[in-house]
Amino acid sequence: MKPTADLSTTCKLVQPSAELYADGQLGLVESLALRQHLDGCPACRKQIECELRIRQVVRRSVKSLTVPSSLVMSVYAIIRAAGVNRISN
Ligand SMILES: [Zn+2]
Repeated sequence: MKPTADLSTTCKLVQPSAELYADGQLGLVESLALRQHLDGCPACRKQIECELRIRQVVRRSVKSLTVPSSLVMSVYAIIRAAGVNRISN
C-alpha cells in the first residue's frame, strides 16, 4: 500500500462505486476497496451515508404503498432493458 495516496484521484474513482454500493450491486472486491477508502475519507463516507439514506426513504415509502410484486418485476425488466440498450449502443 502506498503511504501517500492521492485522495482526490481516489475519491473520483470511488464516486461511481458509491451509488452501486448503496444499491447493493457492487462486487465483493470492489465493496472491500470502497470500505477501505471510506475508513480514511470522511467526505466519501458522508456521501455514501446520504445515498443510503435516500434509498432507505424510497424503500420505506414504497413499502407503505404496498406495490404488487408484478409491478416491481416489470420495473426491474424495464431498467434491465434500458441498461442493455445503453451497453449495445
Ligand atoms: Zn474519498
